[in-house]
Amino acid sequence: MENLKEAHCLLCGSKSYTALEKIDSSELSRLYQTEFTTVPSQVTESKQVFELQNCLFCDLQFFLPIFVGNEEFYNWISAQNLYAPNRWEFDFVLSLLDTKQRILDVGAGSGTFALKALAQGHEVIAMDYSENARNYLTKLGIKVVADFAELKRLDFEPSLVTSFQVFEHLVNPTESLEQIHLNFPKARVAVSVPNRDRTRFRKEVFDFPPHHLTRWNEKALRECFRIANYRDCSVYFEKWNKIDSSYVLAFYLSQRFYRQLGLIFRLFRFSHLGLKILALKVADKSKLYGHSMMIISDKRI
Ligand SMILES: [Zn+2]
Repeated sequence: MENLKEAHCLLCGSKSYTALEKIDSSELSRLYQTEFTTVPSQVTESKQVFELQNCLFCDLQFFLPIFVGNEEFYNWISAQNLYAPNRWEFDFVLSLLDTKQRILDVGAGSGTFALKALAQGHEVIAMDYSENARNYLTKLGIKVVADFAELKRLDFEPSLVTSFQVFEHLVNPTESLEQIHLNFPKARVAVSVPNRDRTRFRKEVFDFPPHHLTRWNEKALRECFRIANYRDCSVYFEKWNKIDSSYVLAFYLSQRFYRQLGLIFRLFRFSHLGLKILALKVADKSKLYGHSMMIISDKRI
């Protein structure tokens, strides 16, 4: 276990941070039970209290002790078929490109972005540390590498490096960004993370360890890029949409009435009823944030 006195901010290294909230593994297990039929064994066996810290310097929020998802945990995740096939940032970043790019997609996962980029005529290489992911990406016909060393051998110099929904899983996100900068200093970089100020944000089970180790806002994201020597960054926010609406309502109902009607509300989560009618009619959409935000190292892509 991490020694709390020696712990430091996972982004900037500061030792000045304050505790915001705590969750223990039994409460975390209960959150899993409200949404899934099984709980990952890494969670049930952990017997720990996780404390959410807020860095006073860079504003990143991070959990202590550090508790990284193991292979079994990520296999459990893959078995749930959860990841959205498409994301706002995929189309958004592609809409900014007016010339053909050489794209390196770090943490390519399901390959959805890589396939979209290829379909638009860009050259794409995917990078993923997971062997399962690499096998899957290869089957989709995507060129894939395990790491920077393997990429160097291909003599591929990207003009754009993307990394979507990856940094919140990392123990050392700044180091990962510095690696990109070190290898490809001329490439522009686009990184997306969940926005912790999103309107639907409640106690979402995946926003705790071992899934997400950190929670981000614009200040933290900009600080990460500043430390890694990127300048002229732009940050963009996903807007609230009908998926957020149904998620909020289903989440609220499943938390409140799970014991009686859990299955019905878990199914309801995937319908687009409910708050779509309620929230979108009463709320000012311009002030509601969707799930993600993205930083791009230079808007002149
Ligand atoms: Zn910090």
